[in-house]
Amino acid sequence: PPALYGNRTNSQGINMNIQTQWNELSSAYQTFLDRQWQAAPVIGGQKLTGTANKLHCPYQLSQEVGTAQFATAEQAKQAIDGLSAFWPRWNATPIEQRAQILERLGDLLEANRAELMAMCTLEAGKTLQDGIDEVREAVDFCRYYALQARLKLGREELKGPTGERNELFHEGRGVFVCISPWNFPLAIYLGQITAALVAGNTVLAKPAEQTSLIAARALELMFEAGLPKDAIAFLPGDGATLGGVFCRDPRVVGVCFTGSTDTARIINRQLAEKEGAIATLIAETGGQNAMIVDSTALPEQVVKDAIGSAFTSAGQRCSALRVLYVQRDIADRVIELIKGAMDQLKVGPTHLRENDLGPVIDAEARDGLLAHIQKLKGEGKLIAEAKLPGSLNGHFVAPVAFEIGGIHELKKEQFGPVLHVVRFDAADLEKVVTDINATGYGLTLGVHTRNEETAERIEAMARVGNLYVNRNQVGAVVGVQPFGGCGLSGTGPKAGGPSYLLRFVNERTTSTNT
Ligand code: GLU
Repeated sequence: PPALYGNRTNSQGINMNIQTQWNELSSAYQTFLDRQWQAAPVIGGQKLTGTANKLHCPYQLSQEVGTAQFATAEQAKQAIDGLSAFWPRWNATPIEQRAQILERLGDLLEANRAELMAMCTLEAGKTLQDGIDEVREAVDFCRYYALQARLKLGREELKGPTGERNELFHEGRGVFVCISPWNFPLAIYLGQITAALVAGNTVLAKPAEQTSLIAARALELMFEAGLPKDAIAFLPGDGATLGGVFCRDPRVVGVCFTGSTDTARIINRQLAEKEGAIATLIAETGGQNAMIVDSTALPEQVVKDAIGSAFTSAGQRCSALRVLYVQRDIADRVIELIKGAMDQLKVGPTHLRENDLGPVIDAEARDGLLAHIQKLKGEGKLIAEAKLPGSLNGHFVAPVAFEIGGIHELKKEQFGPVLHVVRFDAADLEKVVTDINATGYGLTLGVHTRNEETAERIEAMARVGNLYVNRNQVGAVVGVQPFGGCGLSGTGPKAGGPSYLLRFVNERTTSTNT
């Protein structure tokens, strides 16, 4: 591919020979398990102790993978003291120097990719392909934000009629809190942090409880890349306890959050009520994502893309397909192919390469999904359910597909491998888009049609962040498909897009009369 990111190639260009990856990965698993990783609060580079929590592998519950020390509310205060004190120095560090730290981090992620992929599998239950994609995306964020910082954050002279010298420039805002999800424990975690740092903020990093270990390892790599110890504080722990402290602190200038819409609302409320600076919220939340298929589409392609969009990462992506709308004329054929494809899906422990899908993240997630599945089964709506092997000891949910009457029947996002199919008549196409918009979410939308006019009509009507035509709708690529939605799906700006860094800075001007 062309060199998108400075003089380096986008990490999509890495030659990822799958067998080589697999060999590297197999030995990395053992190293990881032997080491029994620890994640502990880190403030000013010092490791502290908190409340110990054992973490278990989601596909093999008897396997302990390490221990996370959860931070206390006092440590959160202490972290913000340190980050506020150091902020002026970090903000005065040249953009070029900050960008180079990100690039070194990208190189270190690549160099340590086998270990990071093993951690993705053992701690988060990811497949090999998901692990590869995760590391790639993290590398891309580092290089892309380094490039964007150089392009967008420097000084710019604004020509005007006054005869003065007018300059526009940007600086960090202060202490930014980054709260990241377990479904992209490396890519989204580092995407948020690197953006906030390169823009000149000090960062309080709060990883998801379930994936504290990989986050702790990435912190070590950040320090190895040359990040000053006082520019970041790392506080693993319970979101509700710690979040309440961060989001009420007068010194916090912004929160970058990826997670549920409900949590984003709580954060927004806390930020609005706190003393001090009026803080920014950058939130990327859920979706109720649909795909619309008309009768000109190729059924085989539709099914490949629908199955991939619904079940990759066990459906645990904000972008994942939840509701497949199929024009009535081809619906029987598409449903028949879906049944066949689901029959082939292999679910099981993801350190085994033959498995397409792993577990969901924890017991709470599994129980919520199973309740929804039981309800729809009880209503006689089942189309197909993949087989689960008998011998599993993890949080597994068999991929399942139901036929329902419309997206309005779904009251909330089901964050797992559950696909809903709806038949529609050609004359109702506009109503379908209206119904999808009426959910209030606006993250991804897929369209399969060979009629360009239909695609254009849907594009004009749909209120979504990412529209994908004649392809799958997961796996947005940094810098190419900036990711993020609107309405209940988030505030924007899009991660991995050209406007992202600008939300993390203050814009300043200086007008000089000489
Ligand atoms: N960017 C990811 C994708 O396009 C989804 C991120 C998320 O689940 O939060 O699949």
